[in-house]
Amino acid sequence: MCGIFGVHGHADAPHIAQLGLYSLQHRGQESVGVVSIDATGQARAVRTMGTLSDSLAQELARIPGVSAVGHTRYSTSGSSTIENAQPVVARSKGGYITLAHNGNLTNAAELRLELEEQGSIFASTNDSEVIVHRLARSNAPTPSERLADALSDVEGAYSLIVAMGDTLLAARDPRGWRPLAMGRLGDAWVFASETCALDIIGATIERDVEPGEIVAINANGLQTTHPFPARELRRCVFEYVYFARPDSRVFGGSVDRARRALGRRLAQEHPAPNADLVFSVPDSSNSAALGFAEESGLPYELALIRNHYVGRTFIQPTQAGRDAKVKVKYNAVREVLAGKSVVMVDDSIVRGTTTRGLVALVRGAGAREVHMRVSSAPVTGPCYYGIDTPSREELIAANSTTEEIAAHLGVDSLGYLSLDGMLGAVPSGPGGFCHACFSGDYPTPPPTDPDKLRFGCGC
Ligand code: AMP
Repeated sequence: MCGIFGVHGHADAPHIAQLGLYSLQHRGQESVGVVSIDATGQARAVRTMGTLSDSLAQELARIPGVSAVGHTRYSTSGSSTIENAQPVVARSKGGYITLAHNGNLTNAAELRLELEEQGSIFASTNDSEVIVHRLARSNAPTPSERLADALSDVEGAYSLIVAMGDTLLAARDPRGWRPLAMGRLGDAWVFASETCALDIIGATIERDVEPGEIVAINANGLQTTHPFPARELRRCVFEYVYFARPDSRVFGGSVDRARRALGRRLAQEHPAPNADLVFSVPDSSNSAALGFAEESGLPYELALIRNHYVGRTFIQPTQAGRDAKVKVKYNAVREVLAGKSVVMVDDSIVRGTTTRGLVALVRGAGAREVHMRVSSAPVTGPCYYGIDTPSREELIAANSTTEEIAAHLGVDSLGYLSLDGMLGAVPSGPGGFCHACFSGDYPTPPPTDPDKLRFGCGC
């Protein structure tokens, strides 16, 4: 997953982008980058592995810019290199092309092969570079038409921010998988994956970039087009369940309200009437656990404390490393748990590794009974559209029954929210969402490349 940010027409554009990225850090901690474009059209890139640092901020403070494009990246193992850090910058036909992408293209491998057979050389293994090559080849007269041309055969999920010359463009794929909001900061225009990144800079929220829309901003103002054939809406429901920040609005709905409603629905479907208290696995399930507590009338407690200073460097890609990760990242509050029958709410179970470790931690702190409640349906398939989920073999719910999962986790009871319950609880549900990772209902053919990460930006 990734976070993207763009600003056009601001004297302090690089600094504005830096602030915006602080609020999109939860969408990616593997690399971060800002490309600043000055009044002459020159693009300068500052990119680093890891999260936004003081040294990156100092570098940004030294470069001029009236527009800027920013990106935070989260990919999986195998493609975690600085070459894959975004935004992508290239020079073509005398000008710079800058691109930041959130999502995953499902036909990137085919498009890349086609380009390579025609002599293209790629600098990275991320799928987003394919779009840059196609932009460079297009002879369409305006930046907006060039982008429409470049995206014409592209399948899959993309929310994009692109800079060409003095034009900043924002686009969303016709199914609208990933969010993208637009706002105003004085006379400047700003774009961000989530509205929390508009809040931090004091921008006013105008609206979402619509599915299938290309918005172009330059000296002549704002132009908007819908150049793609209409598709059925497939916004990612997992943005509401897990990914986005609760202080954001995505797809026009409040993430906090969505999670509360998920938690309330969960309490209706799987009550735990004899429990003493409810707690969340912080931070992503805080709001859902609050919803559960509100609906059930049980007290909401802080039983797990998350260490916010643990970077991804501590997270090893091996099973042994993942087990250790739980203790590095969380600790249990004995005074809250000892002797109690407790409801532990989490937003999802993916591999089951973290959850199993957490249950052991909670029992170790003296909990008498642990009733696990999950505010989403069982994850039974990988995501090809931008969420980092492992292959089917590693997904516990793809290979085990709920009873088997409960036994594996060591809980007294386990209740997942139903698919219908989940879709009925999110704003403007139940239609128009992608729920492929829960239901197997994939809106596109899966990527033909068996290793979806080889060409994937993994974001
Ligand atoms: P596990 O039990 O090992 O599957 O881990 C479940 C935890 O991972 C839950 O607390 C989720 O909030 C979190 N989670 C869900 N999806 C993802 C994801 N794509 N990347 C990282 N963590 C996730």
